[in-house]
Amino acid sequence: MHPTLQQLLSDGPVATDGAWGTQLQQRGLPVGACPDAWNLQKPELVEQVATAYVAAGSQVILTNTFGANRFILARHDLADRVADVNKAGVSISRRAAADRALVFASIGPTGVMLMMGDVSEDDLRAAFAQQAQALAEAGADGIVVETMSDPAEAVLAVAAAHDTGLPVVACMTFDSGAKLDRTMMGTTPEQAAELLIAAGAHCLGSNCGHGIAGFVEICRRLHVASKRPVWIKANAGLPEMRDGKTVYDQTPEQFAAYVPALVDAGAGMIGGCCGTTPEYIAAVRGKLRCGATR
Ligand SMILES: [Zn+2]
Repeated sequence: MHPTLQQLLSDGPVATDGAWGTQLQQRGLPVGACPDAWNLQKPELVEQVATAYVAAGSQVILTNTFGANRFILARHDLADRVADVNKAGVSISRRAAADRALVFASIGPTGVMLMMGDVSEDDLRAAFAQQAQALAEAGADGIVVETMSDPAEAVLAVAAAHDTGLPVVACMTFDSGAKLDRTMMGTTPEQAAELLIAAGAHCLGSNCGHGIAGFVEICRRLHVASKRPVWIKANAGLPEMRDGKTVYDQTPEQFAAYVPALVDAGAGMIGGCCGTTPEYIAAVRGKLRCGATR
């Protein structure tokens, strides 16, 4: 395993962070606006989110760079600011983390589909390389490739991240199939493990798609297939519409009740995805603390 990850996990499983998009929306980001652009436009509000997670006990926080690739930024007239948006994202999380948490930079999907012929493999590879290099130059401690559905896109992102020399965590979303254990493209955890480790991932994981109950078995399968600690970020239960707003049906305590089962299943890094807040992370950290044997 990469020495940074070895060091991070030396005292047992750690808490990561929760959702960013919904936290930014609470601070005034309009639905449909570009969250990543706020790294340049409203850095103090982005920093509030990062700071809230560190205060809640996150030992690793991500960066507000999930969509900071040239394809998504181009839709917001920011195609020429890729490096700036990514570098600002790392700086913001770094200020919030100080020496209390590591900063792992987020890389999400580009929103363009290889399979559909929207884009060539070379263009996609170049886009991920540009983002990963900017994140590494800005001083990220690691890179998390997340919310991937297409294994071909995930492989390109992981390879670009690996080229920086930073530790790479590769996460796909398994939310399809009768047992909700496949990506939208039909990829299983075992297939993902084989492809992504070959592409240079140091750890595997899964995020988003469904509630935490469904992650225990996925975690176990990723752990068995990869023989490494697994990164898990589940949603806060199932989304419901209430008063025109998306809300999730699980409380922080209900969410954190699954932490021991995830640790048993091989989770090393546990946080939350859609619907989770600093309260969920505090509950996760609390469970990890009481389960600590070292
Ligand atoms: Zn999510």
